[in-house]
Amino acid sequence: MQVPSLIFVVSTGFGATLTMDCPFCSSARLRNSRTRAADILHLLVLRSPVRCHNCQERLFVPFWTAKEIRRATKLRREEERLRRSSEGSPRSRS
Ligand SMILES: [Zn+2]
Repeated sequence: MQVPSLIFVVSTGFGATLTMDCPFCSSARLRNSRTRAADILHLLVLRSPVRCHNCQERLFVPFWTAKEIRRATKLRREEERLRRSSEGSPRSRS
């Protein structure tokens, strides 16, 4: 059974911290989800869809939180890319 995400957003939307956990599984690995036509009502109240990497649940968060998630995702990808490239060339840190 899916808990209505609206209740979650209303209860945590204001004063929400920049890092956010999934309300379904508590995973911190959230990413921005593609916007659908059915999301229009959420967009009108400045909420953006995000999806959990862990449980694949989709929920809505305030725009500013979604922006932080987007930034965190970008940083994480960049970090993984750097880690991979440094593993590829072990002498690059000398
Ligand atoms: Zn989750």
